[in-house]
Amino acid sequence: MYCDTYRSYYESSRVWVIICISFLLVGCASSGNGGASTNRETINQTAIDGYVPCAAIQTRTQPITCLVLHHTATALPSAMETLQGKTKGHRVGIHYLVSDEAKPRVFRMAHECFSTSHAGKSRWKDYNGLNQHSIGIEIVNLDGNMNPYPASQISTIIRLCQDIVRRNNISPVNVIAHSDIAVGRKVDPGSKFPWEQLAAAGVGAWPDANEVARCSQLYQKSIPSTAQIKLMLKTYGYAFDDNSDGNLKLAIEAFQRHFRGRKVDGVVDTETIAILAALNLKYYGIKPPAPSLTTAPAVKK
Ligand SMILES: [Zn+2]
Repeated sequence: MYCDTYRSYYESSRVWVIICISFLLVGCASSGNGGASTNRETINQTAIDGYVPCAAIQTRTQPITCLVLHHTATALPSAMETLQGKTKGHRVGIHYLVSDEAKPRVFRMAHECFSTSHAGKSRWKDYNGLNQHSIGIEIVNLDGNMNPYPASQISTIIRLCQDIVRRNNISPVNVIAHSDIAVGRKVDPGSKFPWEQLAAAGVGAWPDANEVARCSQLYQKSIPSTAQIKLMLKTYGYAFDDNSDGNLKLAIEAFQRHFRGRKVDGVVDTETIAILAALNLKYYGIKPPAPSLTTAPAVKK
């Protein structure tokens, strides 16, 4: 059944590639010297403020299954230049760029039927190299680990993401941060990004508070074994070499950056593991593992 679906996807995707190449050519032709085209378009009541083609676009060879969010780490003009390929040494791409202005603008930089170079070396579950599997959004913020995201920008992102997730049938666990898929290499969109608010609006995953409280109770005195914790992280989606404690710390940091932004320290504590267990139960139906008898008491908050 999966194969049939997959085959028909490819048959229809071949047609889409042809249509999209036409779109791209029209888009490039109408955008002059790389400036925004003037055609207005609306996605879920969010105006697309222009089509500005990004530098690195490839033919998509895999179905869209993930949505990856980033912060730009630079102001809008500089981010725009880099994404357009005007910065020496950078050849990157993205599907959407959301500004940080008082009235945020959304720029389309590639049609979704193309893949763009935004993820780099990356992995999530069995997806290797997320460019081909995802749609990417760059959000203007100099450092999402330091600077909160303005409410108007978040409302814009939520409306955009709601539409992307609905049209592409992207599951909550596959709405992810760049830091989730490039453990130890990337830290965006950062610990200040309000994932809980997005989840409340139907975009992305968040654990049930009651289940987190129940798991916190379960792991009050002792958490699961290190081997079990590595398995829990990998089950949820995190990819890392588990041959060193350093790698586990980086994976825990990535997890905390997404699900416990107020304290990102890489420490395997009761609260972190309770959140992880609650997520695996909610989204994969996996029962929280028993506390380990041999593990030292968990670090308190
Ligand atoms: Zn990024």
